[in-house]
Amino acid sequence: MRQLPPYLFSVFQEKKERLLRQGVDVIDLGIGAPDLPTPAFVIDKLKKELTDAQNFKYSPYKGLPEFREAVAAFYEEEYGVMLDPETEVLALIGSKEGIAHLLPAVIDPGDVVLVPDPGYPVYRTAAYLAGGQCLSLPLDHANGYRPQFWMLDKEKLHRAKLMFLNYPSNPTAAVAGLDVFREAVNFATEQQVAIAHDSAYSLVTFAGYRAPSIMQAEGAKEVAVEFGSLSKSFNMTGWRIGYVVGNKDMIQALAVIKSNTDTSQFIPIQKAAALALRSDRSVVKENNAIYERRMEEMLTALKEVSIQAVKPQATFFIWAQVPEGFTSTEFATRLLEEAGVVVTPGNAFGPRGEGFFRLSLSVPTDRLREAAQRIKQLGKEDVNQ
Ligand SMILES: *Cc1c(COP(=O)(O)O)cnc(C)c1O
Repeated sequence: MRQLPPYLFSVFQEKKERLLRQGVDVIDLGIGAPDLPTPAFVIDKLKKELTDAQNFKYSPYKGLPEFREAVAAFYEEEYGVMLDPETEVLALIGSKEGIAHLLPAVIDPGDVVLVPDPGYPVYRTAAYLAGGQCLSLPLDHANGYRPQFWMLDKEKLHRAKLMFLNYPSNPTAAVAGLDVFREAVNFATEQQVAIAHDSAYSLVTFAGYRAPSIMQAEGAKEVAVEFGSLSKSFNMTGWRIGYVVGNKDMIQALAVIKSNTDTSQFIPIQKAAALALRSDRSVVKENNAIYERRMEEMLTALKEVSIQAVKPQATFFIWAQVPEGFTSTEFATRLLEEAGVVVTPGNAFGPRGEGFFRLSLSVPTDRLREAAQRIKQLGKEDVNQ
């Protein structure tokens, strides 16, 4: 535990709290969770299920059939992928839980795990906790953060058992077409490496863009699992409900770990989540429209102060370049201390995140506008100096 890498962002949290105590009006764009409410029909379903005493028992270990069938129906409708709800779908207490428990289920101590850099920090720490060795899968701004398999050390690649991928991506907001997933599945098949694809933002998309599933790539079920979550798409972060689909053996191994660790999620929550997945998802589209408007407003403000950022097709993050003359940490520190705006320095997501910062659009529009004004003001001061 003592050797775990320090959580870089905790330093910023402390600074933020100090400023708050001094009465500074801090705007936190560092939070990676939606501010919008869970859809009313999902809450109503939960309330209804809470009146049935049958629902207070233990859930089946793998999750309710009703929930697993809803996940399978969602995959068929959204991606044209057929899944067996018995063997190819497992309910999770949030996808983070599943990601963390997958590691001890599929690797032995000393095995190598490929983790995207920059990437969601849980992959690395979970691999570490399972005794694995991490090998960075380098991602580059120049090619849209596609995996660059040829850059991997051949020796270490030999010992690799598992590879994480995440599109649409946190923190970079990069998306991947089906061609990227086909290439990854081919690479994994050749190298005999399993794939864990994290699709937490699969439904948070803009301007007609639809994110594919890795399960659409031929041969994916032989080598890959895909994690999904209701947290970001249905604003249900605290409910703790997600799922994993795909390769039967990996799912079975994960189910063994989980059945000896937890007893799945509370039944009413699974039933409400099943209803959300079976809905027409119009609420998701409404939420996405809100994020898109916020995003445009923020991108315009950033442009005015010459901060470069690509317009994202998905996620509620903007991944922007820090102005010249600053490191990520220096710039984030300056934004916090001089403008009272919290952002996440890119290096918190791996060394290749250096030179960038992540800005979350999950605050109400008026606060976002205020943050944009403060960033602009800071930019003006630079020009006047
Ligand atoms: C938020 C997030 C998760 C975790 O989601 P839960 O289902 O709430 O555990 C997983 N992966 C990424 C990339 C995330 O941003």
